[in-house]
Amino acid sequence: MIRKLTEDLTRQANLPTTYAPSFDIAAVVSGEARLTDEQFLELYQHAALTQLGNWAFGVVQRLHPQDYRTYVIDRNINYTNICTARCTFCAFKRNDPQAPDAYALGYEAIHEKIAELVAIGGTQILMQGGMNPDLPLSYYQGLLTSIRDRFPQVHIHAFSPPEFVEFSRFFRLPVGELLRMFKDWGLATVPGGGGEIFSDRVRLRIGPGKCTGEQWLDVMTEAHKLAMHTSATMLIGHIETIEDRLDHLSRLRQRQDWSLAHAPAHYTAFIHWPYQPDNTPLDKKRKWNPDAGQPFEFDEGRTVRLADASEYLCMLALARLYLDNFQNMQSSWVTMGAKIGQLALFFGANDMGSLMMEENVVSSAGTTHRVNEAQICRLIRDSGWIPAQRNQYYTVLQRHDGPDAPDLQPREPGVFAHRQHKITPEEAVAYKTIPLGIKVGGSVGS
Ligand code: SF4
Repeated sequence: MIRKLTEDLTRQANLPTTYAPSFDIAAVVSGEARLTDEQFLELYQHAALTQLGNWAFGVVQRLHPQDYRTYVIDRNINYTNICTARCTFCAFKRNDPQAPDAYALGYEAIHEKIAELVAIGGTQILMQGGMNPDLPLSYYQGLLTSIRDRFPQVHIHAFSPPEFVEFSRFFRLPVGELLRMFKDWGLATVPGGGGEIFSDRVRLRIGPGKCTGEQWLDVMTEAHKLAMHTSATMLIGHIETIEDRLDHLSRLRQRQDWSLAHAPAHYTAFIHWPYQPDNTPLDKKRKWNPDAGQPFEFDEGRTVRLADASEYLCMLALARLYLDNFQNMQSSWVTMGAKIGQLALFFGANDMGSLMMEENVVSSAGTTHRVNEAQICRLIRDSGWIPAQRNQYYTVLQRHDGPDAPDLQPREPGVFAHRQHKITPEEAVAYKTIPLGIKVGGSVGS
């Protein structure tokens, strides 16, 4: 019986690095045993961060013994910010369609964005929006078919499960039928946006108006049945407890087991990131004080416990150990910054995720980390691997081990050496303006 967790107090204390799990952790790392829920909680409560990193890295090395680590070049297109939901962690949505900055993009504007992506060697779009009740089904048909016809080489990774659940309500069609129609029109894969935390007690408080966790999972299972791969996400660092996170991972693992056994597609990757508080209603809530001597507990959503870098890495390592049926884990450098994103490669991630040309959701919440292709390659190379551009199916498109690698070119303004911890004022100015210097934000649900 796992005793009542006082995880935060325990984790704040000086944890001995000599902690030995009560179970055979080597068997988990080698893939011979599956981490149980109780073992997960034991590790969270007692293991030092460095231990978790070592074990998770062992899993990554087993699953990905190659000499490279990957990234993808895509563009996040948020086709509308008008939304029927009122997620309290969201600074992006506009509930009033008449708001001066409410928008829905026309096809031409979206095509221009895709043309810019193609011009820099990008291979896919991540297209998600608010849940806009004013857009007819024909908008989506025209959008998808026009992209497919004009840019047949571009992979369309679009429309998260909450959008499909709302589409089902708007258009009075079952989700499975909508997925089939969208696939016929050009949709290739479904991003894991809107996963947040599945537990109802959390979800009802942070995501009013959004689908339930079970509905989210059902959409993905329907997609898998139709041979459409998907990704999975988790948002940490708000009102959830470690048990809520474990419940989320457990439901993903069970659904993945089913899809791998019974469906022609499955989840290709897991991505998690911490809640970004700026400009969001949830930021007005009381913040849990780790120095006050009280453990964090769920209190009907009245208190927020933000997740810092160590908590992010801890959860990455635990997810890598627990989700033994997920092949890929992405680093969330977008929310954590380049250096923690790089460190993530040693805590469970095998992929740097997306080098985004554009992002509007995380950046609305005050997070503005930027990386360009040269820098992402440098982060990977400095970590000991060859950088490689991949597609949505994790197939390597291009290894960068020759002299023409993006990070091995003569330095241009804005491409600073990552071993330098400071850039010059001139570079800082240039860095903000170079075209490829990506107005980044995050892979919210990539
Ligand atoms: S997170 Fe997505 S579903 Fe929630 S309010 Fe923002 S745009 Fe809408």
